[in-house]
Amino acid sequence: MALIVQKYGGTSVGSVERIQAVAEKIKAFADGGDQLVVSVSAMSGETNRMTALAKEIQTVPSLRELDMLLTTGEQVTISLLSMALQQIGCDAISYLGSQVQIVTDSEHGKARIKSIDDSRIHASLDEGKVVIVAGFQGVDEFGHITTLGRGGSDTTAVALAAALKADECQIYTDVDGVYTTDPRIEPNARKMKAVSYEEMLEMASLGSKVLQIRSVEFASKYKVPLRVLSSLIDNPEGTLITSEENIVEQAVISGIAHNQDEAKLSLIGVPDKPGIAFKILKNISEANIEVDMIVQSVSAREGLTNFAFTVHRNDFNQAQSILQTVCDDLGAIGVQSDDKVVKVSLVGIGMRSHAGIATQMFEVLHNEGINIQMIATSEIKISVVIDEKYLELAVRSLHSAFELDKE
Ligand code: ASP
Ligand code: MG
Repeated sequence: MALIVQKYGGTSVGSVERIQAVAEKIKAFADGGDQLVVSVSAMSGETNRMTALAKEIQTVPSLRELDMLLTTGEQVTISLLSMALQQIGCDAISYLGSQVQIVTDSEHGKARIKSIDDSRIHASLDEGKVVIVAGFQGVDEFGHITTLGRGGSDTTAVALAAALKADECQIYTDVDGVYTTDPRIEPNARKMKAVSYEEMLEMASLGSKVLQIRSVEFASKYKVPLRVLSSLIDNPEGTLITSEENIVEQAVISGIAHNQDEAKLSLIGVPDKPGIAFKILKNISEANIEVDMIVQSVSAREGLTNFAFTVHRNDFNQAQSILQTVCDDLGAIGVQSDDKVVKVSLVGIGMRSHAGIATQMFEVLHNEGINIQMIATSEIKISVVIDEKYLELAVRSLHSAFELDKE
């Protein structure tokens, strides 16, 4: 008998009919003899709807009260799902995060799970029940309700699987797995059978929206076998996310991620002396703006350097005005900014043992006449920043050049 943790996302529980369909699926698993713990999101659109309500009342809603509000979305779906199961003769019980002691830190809106008390869940499983746990929520040590950040139900499921030492954590969603790249951009994208934690982590951080980043970190840390599959088709195999050594056929490149939320800022002609990078970025980070890529280059004029970095497009205007102040303070020549850029990244653990991947990537982009504005690499990824108008061309030409469309 296996212990499986399953998670159903907002679309999968988006209506009474869908909840009933999910209940049928769960019942089939339970009838097969597996023990099941199920975590669900709020009905699709609900979390956004409630956030908008809060903003009608408080321009910047109190984070504690917002958590109190948003967690009701999952309370609705766990109870309805439990009823749907009982209705078809499958014994089930629902729990809020606080009831099974999903203890988090006190960072409202982006809390981290510290521990889970599995005793109540085990007791209910032993009574033959399907246990349904609200996703996305927890409770801090002072009893305040917290949430784990948008998309946090994925993390709830993986954390439950880790705490319960489950055999597998299955994330049911509206796509049938993890693809080599976004199929909306490249119709020849292929569903991967398996991908390593490390690659999935890179892809999630580089813009692939299939799983919450933190859930992959958690799975990797506790070696939870994680499967992404569709709740809309029967017997899907999905994509297994697992340790590198469990992957039999390892391609050099596994996938291409892209991020359209990038904006680029450059400080031109800064005096090239110690402390410059520090002075520029200090002001940016004090404003709580996250910096992604950083490039410093020698300028044509002696003793001067150019300093460029990317931020999230939401932070673009603020970063631009901070940089203008820094520019005046440091006596630099000027600020150049561009929020019409995207980041395209190749990801693959095979890169570690294959030379020349970067060269091949740059050649493909060159052949298409795409100018590379910035480059960043790690052991298993190469990212470039390019003009957003070339996004599709870049993704498609790289996808075929690296033969990701072939088995
Ligand atoms: N309901 C939450 C959200 O929409 C959590 C989740 O869906 O995973 O972000
Ligand atoms: Mg979600």
